[in-house]
Amino acid sequence: MNSAAPRPAVSVVVPCFNEQDALPEFLRRACSVLDGIGVTSELVLVDDGSRDRTWDVLAEAAARDSRIVAVRLMRNHGHQLALTAGLSVCRGERILIIDADLQDPPELLVDMMRMMDEGADVVYGQRRQRDGESLFKRATAAAFYRLIGRLTDVQIPPDAGDFRLVTRRVLDLLLAMPERHRFIRGMVAWIGGRQVPLVYDRHARVAGESKYPLAKMIRFAADAITSFSVVPLMLSMTIGWIMAGLGFCFFLYSIVGWLNGHTMPGWTSLMAAVGLLGGMQFLMLGVIGAYLGRLYDQSKGRPLFMIRDIVGGPK
Ligand code: UDP
Ligand code: MG
Repeated sequence: MNSAAPRPAVSVVVPCFNEQDALPEFLRRACSVLDGIGVTSELVLVDDGSRDRTWDVLAEAAARDSRIVAVRLMRNHGHQLALTAGLSVCRGERILIIDADLQDPPELLVDMMRMMDEGADVVYGQRRQRDGESLFKRATAAAFYRLIGRLTDVQIPPDAGDFRLVTRRVLDLLLAMPERHRFIRGMVAWIGGRQVPLVYDRHARVAGESKYPLAKMIRFAADAITSFSVVPLMLSMTIGWIMAGLGFCFFLYSIVGWLNGHTMPGWTSLMAAVGLLGGMQFLMLGVIGAYLGRLYDQSKGRPLFMIRDIVGGPK
């Protein structure tokens, strides 16, 4: 890669994890879009520690077409960090973030470019319909966006993924944020400027299966919430007040009972109280742990991603 070469007008950045089957079709469609837009462009594809032939496909494509830059990470870093690696390598004036599975049509770049010509800093894809995704995924996604909307003041658009076109200015601001547990769509929303939606229908994957199993999805949601809200940390205060109020009522009740000479055999009520209080305390310790663990990870200051190879690009 020659970093002295002039900046391309558009970079397309694509994180890829075990996408050998989706990539040929993705490359074909993305390249034909870039052929048609009439400005200089590059395609930065990041192999996020794939275990299939993804890297071979990428390296071959980069050898064939000088617009293609293939980046290989040392190991699997996860979607958001792989994307961050690609974003830090790309050099375009405008940057399109897109997945390799063609759920988001690359052809929309044309409309996004036009909306950016009209003054947008960010054009984000907003899903009207999601084909090929389970009811469970759609329901949990809807619940998640509603929850995070209530927990934070940042206007994170519902039904939007990372599929978006951003200006170099916005990208540089994004890359200046050193946080490890990245929720990129929220971080872009936090930056502000003029952010406009482009409504589209999300398709089913062309090939392969989702790389977001439930456990990863839950971790991603927890990263998003802990990055954008401290409301869960404050929850123990509210619960504490309620419990203290209840405790005081029970205290009065038992004193009055004692004065009247009838103390009760209280095993059941005691067990209920001990169980409830113990459960809540551990739960709240867990909430503190969720923040503290992330704080600890961040404090180590390790690099966000590690690049093993970069091939392709202008000579
Ligand atoms: N991805 C990645 N690293 C991972 C998981 C996913 O680079 O550890 C990439 C994946 O190849 C795809 C994008 O992130 O291009 C989004 O993943 P996926 O399509 O599986 O997520 P979904 O659309 O099902 O939410
Ligand atoms: Mg997908």
